[in-house]
Amino acid sequence: MDYALKRRMMVQGQLRPRGIRDERVLEAMLAIPREEFVPEDSREEAYADAPLSIGHGQTISQPYMTALMVQCLELTGQETVLEVGAGSGYHAAVLGALAARVIAVELIPELAQMARGNLQRTGRDANITVITGDGSLGYSEYAPFDAISVAAAAADVPPRLLEQLKDPGRMVIPVGSWWDQELRVISKTGGEVLSYVAAYCRFVPLREGL
Ligand code: SAH
Repeated sequence: MDYALKRRMMVQGQLRPRGIRDERVLEAMLAIPREEFVPEDSREEAYADAPLSIGHGQTISQPYMTALMVQCLELTGQETVLEVGAGSGYHAAVLGALAARVIAVELIPELAQMARGNLQRTGRDANITVITGDGSLGYSEYAPFDAISVAAAAADVPPRLLEQLKDPGRMVIPVGSWWDQELRVISKTGGEVLSYVAAYCRFVPLREGL
């Protein structure tokens, strides 16, 4: 199967028509081999317009959702980014192509190990560190972060994440109940915190207070 062709079709058919216009984001989505981040028996579906199971009850997000979240962060290449919920490592790989450094925290040890393996195999691990742990607490060793990307839905924005966001800085996070969530883009600037809703979405829950 010609995965490069599937990637181009994903960009033309799923991303551009829905408003992903940042050429750097589109380039990153063209460059990262998504098929290497999904379970072997789902490779043919790797570029489907949908989330896919990665085991342990978790999913790799729909390509459009990854692209939208990354676009909302408006990365320039200089940033240190925290990703909460590394899962397969795919989203971290896209962030790694667009920022200086990515710290990706994953709660489930087997998935953290899988993300590390996927990033290594695809040669994307140079500027990405996968940490096993509770990302709702952020990761103080590398804080504050220029950008934070959360891949699981919280009932509200975890205070530790807001604390660990730089000023200026931007965070993208799904907030809401199991079924009904909004993708919030939060920016901290001049001591002020502003937020807008970029989309409605459905993510797996962020596990907190463990
Ligand atoms: N970004 C991933 C999608 C992961 S799905 C990808 O590209 O594949 C969300 C992930 O968040 C799951 O792997 C889940 O285990 C993880 N997660 C849930 N609560 C968490 C927490 N408190 N800290 C870190 N990871 C968490």
